[in-house]
Amino acid sequence: MKQFVPAAAVVALQVTASLAEELLPVQIRAPSPAHFSDLVANNTLDFGCRPIAHPTSDGKFELQALLTRDQISWLHGEYSSDEAITVQETALDKRQTSGKAPIGTGDRFSGGSLTPSGLGTKASTASIASILNVDEINSALTGLANAYPGAFFKYNLPYTTFQGRTSVAAYTGAGPDTSKYRLYLSAGMHARERGGPDNLLYWVSDLLAANKSGSGLTYGKKTYTNAQVKSVLSAGIVLFPLVNPDGVVYDQSSGSLWRKNRNTRSGSSGASVGVDLNRNFNFLWNFRKFFSSSVSPASTSPSSEAFYGTAPESEQETKNHVSIYDKFPGIKWFMDIHSAAGTILYSWGDDVNQSTDPKMNFLNSTYDGKRGVTGDSVYKEYIPAADATAIKRAADATVAGMKGVGSRSYVSQQAVGLYPTSGASDDYAFSRFWAEPGVSKVYGFTMEFGYSTNFYPTTAEFNNNIRDTNAGFMEWALTAIAVGL
Ligand SMILES: [Zn+2]
Repeated sequence: MKQFVPAAAVVALQVTASLAEELLPVQIRAPSPAHFSDLVANNTLDFGCRPIAHPTSDGKFELQALLTRDQISWLHGEYSSDEAITVQETALDKRQTSGKAPIGTGDRFSGGSLTPSGLGTKASTASIASILNVDEINSALTGLANAYPGAFFKYNLPYTTFQGRTSVAAYTGAGPDTSKYRLYLSAGMHARERGGPDNLLYWVSDLLAANKSGSGLTYGKKTYTNAQVKSVLSAGIVLFPLVNPDGVVYDQSSGSLWRKNRNTRSGSSGASVGVDLNRNFNFLWNFRKFFSSSVSPASTSPSSEAFYGTAPESEQETKNHVSIYDKFPGIKWFMDIHSAAGTILYSWGDDVNQSTDPKMNFLNSTYDGKRGVTGDSVYKEYIPAADATAIKRAADATVAGMKGVGSRSYVSQQAVGLYPTSGASDDYAFSRFWAEPGVSKVYGFTMEFGYSTNFYPTTAEFNNNIRDTNAGFMEWALTAIAVGL
């Protein structure tokens, strides 16, 4: 398989036409995940957060991508003589306009004088009409701080974004002592993944309202008691609902399916703008050194959707994310909220897990240049057996909760799945315990809500996503408490 290389003229055209260029959802089917390995090594193609081989009902596997018409033509040519692999693009994409949940206008929380209210405390027929805009995400936090003085605390994170925005985090449930917080959830890292911040903010709003009123929560067919609400809150929840405000402002105004931040230091126009924050964390960041040359867990090219930046934690948004571990040193469980795949991913993401050889690990330079090939036994990432059991239990419980709502199915899988990643937030969370002696062990998860490549949900899907994710967060938190904080 050759790389897709656009002609020079096309490259020039893409720079000026990138905003208008349509990305079409494409489904590639093959008899096994291994059939996709060459394709996913091509980091000029957009497979969403990370490439995932979904099993299909007829025993095959499907890989979802968002591609330009040029890329689709190339793909059809590459596979025209290979009967095992089929390529199917969805008819002209309407996802950016008709039927999609609108972005809120103005500020529904009036600068924080009104309190956000989630779906778990409302009738089953209740619906939220639009996705939160960036101002509303901030005023939702102010509204919660105003409604629950002494119980919900918000604060400004230390690093302003490339475009000068101040990011905000909050904590609730375990009082003012920041050493008592055990759960950390973040959202809005990839700009186009609409509804991520909403899922988190409405869930926390539900917990606080139910705690105050003495009631439980209902998400579709899943119900939770007031005792469970109080238990989850008392674990101490830290939330960073909008990691990438610059990117989200841009995506919401352009409808361009924008993923990265808006840093222009490495590229000033079109697709060359921005860093993929979920390849910028300090975990095997320098993939050219740490991974096999046959895999591309991130990209060194600024025009790639997976551009890793200029150094580990080179981005202000990444630094803000990491700063939370310093302020809350007792965090034990982390969930990064992404879309769209319908999966719960657990550690590790750099290679297949093994629990037999502690020396075969991400810190051991003996294995530099050998990591990331999922089909081999040259390198597999070490995870203590007890940790592997605990994280699988939590991922499976989260999936069961999301399915239990009753609207659709989800699956849990190890993050590496089809292909490795470097510099991801979930692996960074888990790696800290070994990389920085003295810090607590954090189990890292990634939730991929929503249907594959459906970054812009319809209003009905947006509401289903809130209910599904919120039940998932409940089960994840309850399992964390059961495993031990
Ligand atoms: Zn993502």
